[in-house]
Amino acid sequence: MKIVLQNLTKKFPGCGKGVREDVVAVKDFTFEIPDGKLIGLLGPSGCGKSTTLNLLCGLQKPTSGKIFFGDDDVTTLPAEKRGVGFVFQSYALYPHLTVLQNILFPLENLKGKDRLSKEAMREKAFEAAKLVQIDELMDRKPSELSGGQQQRVAIARALVKRPRVLLLDEPLSNLDARLRLQTREEIRRIQRETKITTVFVTHDQEEAMSISDMIVVMKSGVIQQIGKPQEVYDDPVNLFVAKFLGTPPINVFSGRVEGGRLMIGGDAVLDAPGAEDREVWVGIRPEGFVPDDNGPLHCDFRGIEVMGRDISVVSANRFCENAAIRAIISADSRVNPQGDTVRFSLNPDKVFIFDKETEARIPFEKA
Ligand code: ATP
Repeated sequence: MKIVLQNLTKKFPGCGKGVREDVVAVKDFTFEIPDGKLIGLLGPSGCGKSTTLNLLCGLQKPTSGKIFFGDDDVTTLPAEKRGVGFVFQSYALYPHLTVLQNILFPLENLKGKDRLSKEAMREKAFEAAKLVQIDELMDRKPSELSGGQQQRVAIARALVKRPRVLLLDEPLSNLDARLRLQTREEIRRIQRETKITTVFVTHDQEEAMSISDMIVVMKSGVIQQIGKPQEVYDDPVNLFVAKFLGTPPINVFSGRVEGGRLMIGGDAVLDAPGAEDREVWVGIRPEGFVPDDNGPLHCDFRGIEVMGRDISVVSANRFCENAAIRAIISADSRVNPQGDTVRFSLNPDKVFIFDKETEARIPFEKA
């Protein structure tokens, strides 16, 4: 089922007299989540991710705007009538109940004509448990499970009522690195199998990029960019988005456009026809540097970090915001520092320029 957010705004009022300002946690969100897709809401702490989820599930009411599930306007519909499954950061399992009882819990709360027989409930609980591969653990208590298994129970509990929409709020943040990776792949598999439209909240860009069909990058309650993860990475609309996506992060230099050339300090690093003269931020992805004995960009060589298939050439440049510049190149490339200096030419597809004031992307023709 598709979800449509229409001019959705949530304002938390301050207490006046300048003591506490109003907070606009979600500002004028308008976008559509296509049926059966997994959307990653991504942004730093406080950007409004959880508020968006709370609006979607009905735990909070918007100040203005509308939410549609399919063709139904659910803006004022109570949470329990929306058909939403919610998985929180803390799994919030009932410690005194077994896995089976935890998964059964939402079904046992159904009233009237929705109430199922005991056998039907058990069948549904086992179906959900099988999907997340914990059907062997049904008699255990949460304390007898690993973190990853507990998270699966929470997902099974959210799925047992066959929700129309699945909302996941930082569901992996309590897991260690290896389990995080494994569980995020599981979530992807479960989502593909159930085809439930899913919204996944995280502040971890790598996590969002790896499992989402589409990402929504947010900052201070405002959507910055929406698109397929690779498209947003390759074509960021502003400096914030460019900096937020990518590991190692993009390298940001203070530079200027002068007579159709992009300058960093005294180095004319690229031709930038079509861009007018002005001060700019220059963002260079780590994979955009090509070691080149005659390359135009001069950096102070610091060392090489071996990463296996690739190596990272670490350098510095006084016009660069990053304390260390990391250039990722293939392990069989040759790096030939001349004294303390390493020189690079740049791959223009991996170089972005941004207005110094507004930080909006400035297009330039690639020579
Ligand atoms: P995190 O990643 O830290 O969970 P988030 O992106 O989910 O952050 P929200 O929890 O949605 O952010 O909060 C967005 C903004 O709204 C923050 O500035 C927060 O302080 C504010 N906020 C959230 N809930 C309330 C509330 N009940 N009353 C007042 N302000 C609130």
